[in-house]
Amino acid sequence: MTTIDDLPIRDDLRGKSPYGAPQLDVPVQLNTNENSYPVPDDVVEAIGKAVQAELRDLNRYPDRDAIALRNELAGYLGHGLTTANVWAANGSNEVQQQLLQAFGGPGRSALGFGPSYSMHPLLAQGTGTRWIGALRDPDFGLRPEAAVAEIEKHDPDLVFVCSPNNPTGTALDPAVIDAILNRARGMVIVDEAYTEFSRPGTASALTLLPHHPRLVVSRTMSKAFGFAGGRLGYLAADPAVVDAVQLVRLPYHLSAISQAAARAAVVHRASLLATVEAIKEQRDRIVQVLRERGVRVADSDANFVLFAVSKDQKADWQAFLDRGVLIRDVGLAGWLRVTAGTEDETTAFLNAAEEILSGER
Ligand code: PMP
Repeated sequence: MTTIDDLPIRDDLRGKSPYGAPQLDVPVQLNTNENSYPVPDDVVEAIGKAVQAELRDLNRYPDRDAIALRNELAGYLGHGLTTANVWAANGSNEVQQQLLQAFGGPGRSALGFGPSYSMHPLLAQGTGTRWIGALRDPDFGLRPEAAVAEIEKHDPDLVFVCSPNNPTGTALDPAVIDAILNRARGMVIVDEAYTEFSRPGTASALTLLPHHPRLVVSRTMSKAFGFAGGRLGYLAADPAVVDAVQLVRLPYHLSAISQAAARAAVVHRASLLATVEAIKEQRDRIVQVLRERGVRVADSDANFVLFAVSKDQKADWQAFLDRGVLIRDVGLAGWLRVTAGTEDETTAFLNAAEEILSGER
């Protein structure tokens, strides 16, 4: 049987594993930070109509620049942003890949602060960009002086900061991003995939855009919008950044069907985003109940919670799965991550946690 090793694959990809959260068919799936609520009927209908209207013209290529969709997304973001400030692709993973293609690549480097989103180093790898893995503070925050020290040490071409951070849930004050921007020579990507779940008092880095042409705010419809299957991510930045990613994007990368579906979803956002408050309630419930039981839990501004288990988190992950609850081992020794789902899913998780963790305290 032929294996990858038998192929003339790039040397730097040998021995690597693909990104792969298990996709298992179990009753309670809380492992990939999806929105547990199905798309509501009115939005299903609107997306159906929008897609139907495209079908006869599928003999033609779609709008290469996705202008109508970008216009809707700019309207959603506010902050005085226009179509020229926004770019969209098949998930924010693709947006970030395009940024690395345009601003990274062979001979260039990207710096990130772990524990953070595992795709950032993988996207760097795939684009031939050297990844520099610095660390967050022990409480999972990031002090401006610590971030600036790493930038001075490594002088990266790109800096990735995730806020609220996956997998810890930690939101950063825009002042930290501002300090990074003032010191970094390269592009600064703030991954705000979970920003809609932030607690009051946490601000988006969008507020910094008018003064910083090297800042890129990355967003997605996969989480709060409950549109993970629709694959739509986007960025907000100076129009020059949008010009730059157009140099590397594939022609017609967003299908007519994707554009129409996403547009309808953004237009009907009130209905989609109505689940955010319920999810935040379950998130806060997980934090509170686990803490009451004496479990160490990271503060969360996202739709998931990182909590401490035994040193052997793999065994605990399996114990949850044995009880029909799929959560995430993010490879952090002694910690597991659970997505806040519906009330019933959260109850199932908390019941399993009571059985599994009570023996460990
Ligand atoms: N950024 C972060 C921090 C994420 O956690 C995720 C999803 N796991 C993404 C980006 C990518 O999401 P998508 O490609 O679905 O937009």
